[in-house]
Amino acid sequence: MKPAVEEVIRTLQDRYADRVSVSNAVREQHARGEGLATSLPPDAVVWPLDKHEVCAILALCNAHRVPVIAFGAGSSLEGHVSAPFGGICIDMSRMNAVVQVNAEDSDCVVQPGITREDLNAYLKGTGLFFPVDPGANATIGGMVSTRASGTTTIRYGSMAHNVQCLEVAMADGSLLRVGSRARKSSAGYDLVHLLTGSEGTLGVITEITLR
Ligand SMILES: Cc1cc2nc3c(=O)[nH]c(=O)nc-3n(C[C@H](O)[C@H](O)[C@H](O)COP(=O)(O)OP(=O)(O)OC[C@H]3O[C@@H](n4cnc5c(N)ncnc54)[C@H](O)[C@@H]3O)c2cc1C
Repeated sequence: MKPAVEEVIRTLQDRYADRVSVSNAVREQHARGEGLATSLPPDAVVWPLDKHEVCAILALCNAHRVPVIAFGAGSSLEGHVSAPFGGICIDMSRMNAVVQVNAEDSDCVVQPGITREDLNAYLKGTGLFFPVDPGANATIGGMVSTRASGTTTIRYGSMAHNVQCLEVAMADGSLLRVGSRARKSSAGYDLVHLLTGSEGTLGVITEITLR
């Protein structure tokens, strides 16, 4: 292991204790999605609990030029979560809260680690549901990042049509908000659609406003 990676892992262990793992079993579990047989494990896995921790992890890795890979449910099919150059896997599954439901406006704000089935269980009884269904019980963050579609897309659209705003942690640890809850808006560059489908290459999504 490179000294820079060792130093990053030591710092992460100091900060997050048992929310960092270097065990072979955990690294293997994060080494591939559902589709690629080749196992390319990260050097360590960390589970942040909020956006500030995500930013701090990114800033640390950036300062040491250590690769990072965001991880949702690991259900993607084309080697998205594999770590060909090692580095730190940021497992987003513990950031899984529903932040806000605006039933009158038919939108909601969620953390990226919530799965689509858990979101729909939460919405039951509100008169709303989240329609994008790729088959896998993927996280919303992973679905944004792969611009997922599915069996209901002809009627309800894909993730490209159902994401209104994003909060994203950039590589240097800064936080960016893009998009607007106002549907009638044509202001500025369309960064929501740039980030939707970017497969974790432009930043780590920390909050999503969904239609
Ligand atoms: C049986 C099956 C059927 C499928 N059918 C379809 C289909 O019909 N249509 C379709 O579009 N897809 C389909 N998929 C693929 C599906 O869209 C993806 O598996 C899913 O979107 C990935 O979500 P995940 O939470 O598992 O993400 P992961 O697999 O964990 O990650 C996927 C990508 O997103 C990145 N990522 C994850 N979380 C974040 C985050 N918070 N911020 C930034 N980047 C992040 C990862 O780095 C990775 O690049 C299918 C998958 C399966 C297993």
